[in-house]
Amino acid sequence: MKRNFRLIKIFLIFLFILSSSNAWANYLPVASYKIDIRLDDKEKIIYGQEKIFFLNISEKNIDTLYLHLYANAFSSDSTIFVRESKSLKKMMQKEEYRGYLKIKTVKAFSKELSWDVDETRMMIFLFEPLKPGRDIELSLEFELKLPQIISRMGYDKDNFILSEWFPKMAVLEKEGTWKDFPYHYFTEFFSDFGTYDVSITLPLKYIIDGTGYIVAEKKNPDSTKTVTFKAEKVHDFAWCASPDFRIRKTNIDGVEVVFLLLPGDLYKYQRWAEAAEVALKYCNSHFGRYPYSKLVIVDSYIGLVGMAIECPMLITMPPKIPFLPENIRLDEEILIHELVHQWWYGVVASDEAEEAWLDEGFTTYTTRKIMEKEYGEKGNLLDLWGVKISDQNLAKWVYLKYPKLDPIFKPSWEFVNSTSYGVNVYYKASLVLELLENIIGEEKMDTLLKEYYNRYQFKHPKTDDFIKVAEKVTGQKLDSFFKEWLFETKTCDYEVRKIKSEKKEKIYQTTVELRRNGDIIMPVEILIELENGEKIKEKWDGKDKWFELKLETKAKIRSAILDPENKIVLDANVNNNGLSTKPYRWPVFKLFSNYLFWMESVIQWMIDFF
Ligand SMILES: [Zn+2]
Repeated sequence: MKRNFRLIKIFLIFLFILSSSNAWANYLPVASYKIDIRLDDKEKIIYGQEKIFFLNISEKNIDTLYLHLYANAFSSDSTIFVRESKSLKKMMQKEEYRGYLKIKTVKAFSKELSWDVDETRMMIFLFEPLKPGRDIELSLEFELKLPQIISRMGYDKDNFILSEWFPKMAVLEKEGTWKDFPYHYFTEFFSDFGTYDVSITLPLKYIIDGTGYIVAEKKNPDSTKTVTFKAEKVHDFAWCASPDFRIRKTNIDGVEVVFLLLPGDLYKYQRWAEAAEVALKYCNSHFGRYPYSKLVIVDSYIGLVGMAIECPMLITMPPKIPFLPENIRLDEEILIHELVHQWWYGVVASDEAEEAWLDEGFTTYTTRKIMEKEYGEKGNLLDLWGVKISDQNLAKWVYLKYPKLDPIFKPSWEFVNSTSYGVNVYYKASLVLELLENIIGEEKMDTLLKEYYNRYQFKHPKTDDFIKVAEKVTGQKLDSFFKEWLFETKTCDYEVRKIKSEKKEKIYQTTVELRRNGDIIMPVEILIELENGEKIKEKWDGKDKWFELKLETKAKIRSAILDPENKIVLDANVNNNGLSTKPYRWPVFKLFSNYLFWMESVIQWMIDFF
């Protein structure tokens, strides 16, 4: 029986490798875990036993396995993670912010294996190579000292939040390359899918939830309890525990949404539940069903530094945004963003370290679509005292501040700083998708994203895979579009330079001089308004550096506006898009100058936040 089972498994793996880019490929767990841990909540230490079941889906024999030990980023004030941040060095000199993930033993087939640790990376040396299609079961013993929370894992008083916390396999690619990046300050994650069976023993007073489903809970004689979770088709297991959580539950589109709220934040439930409903329903209908029947939304307790984070089947919300009136929709923006990650980060799960835009850019773009659909195109983020700010205003303004620092496509740790990382992989990337939508139309864009999501769920697609789907769905060659916008720092800027108008007999002869200041060529539309109210639409292919548009009209020209429908959302200077023959303040200019003062701080905050 066992032999037959192994043959079937090898056959399945063979199919998986062959068909890794085909929609019909079966899902196969690559890295699965059985973890038993005990939380010492006084010492903030977790003692753990872990079994890892790892399949070699590459084409090569593997003699070394690579793992991530992310918690070691907090082991001293000189780790890569700390060195790359501006603010952590001083903090990390305090003992309470320090943590570590110590490996005690590693075994396979009951024999001890040798291993080595390089800060957040671990190497396990096998006795004999692991052949393609073969799996291995490893047993590890570890000790995790939790830091007072700085980022993504740790504690604050009696509250615990843990993501990416256990010894975790790095991704082995088909060609035999390991994606075993060290933990960088603004790098996110990349992991294989698998099955998780996690038992957590902790004092009775804690309310706990996490990725997956609680399948057992038992009281122990020593005033502790053991809670067992099971999750399938996920690539991390995150959990939160606090004695203070208040539970609220709702069912949205067949998904049980569990809110873990802190007592002071109970009033937020209604608003958060409404935002969750909007986001879940949008993504279910636009991309494909959320593949699980539970989602946990945790009110975290760690102030602004704690961030809102996304984990499979679990997201956290920052608590310390004070009560905001309904027309400041920061809670909605953040919750929708984190929830949308369930599709792009949780299910599609591209390499966030090297191609972060495939998650953050897609998530930011989708968040904007939902905000616009639900709360209107203008003022969907803020609509107060006559000031209207939309999610799109925010993205454009951020992009305009730093249009040329880095391209979007780049390993996260190679960006000049965290601001450039944020501007590119979140905001510019979201605008590139919006620009693509403006070129191919909303209907095609919907088809494209649906096709991409369904084809590549659980498969770690790369940028090239997305481009291929885009070309297939649209029937257009899009390689130069993506090359310029993703891989280069070129900009696009068209200008109305001059308007000359002379009356000859009863006819006005007008020349509108248009310029192309950027390197990226886009076809543009021009809207001419005459003094009698007549409107004329013209087009320019935008290829030359300049172009004279000549018109003969009965009424005098009043204004010329380039891209009047705002399709080129990545225009690097919108202030030169219009000219008027009369004193005339172009509304977009007014809008930008009004917001300039306070947008600066909001933007920096948003970049730091996600
Ligand atoms: Zn995000």
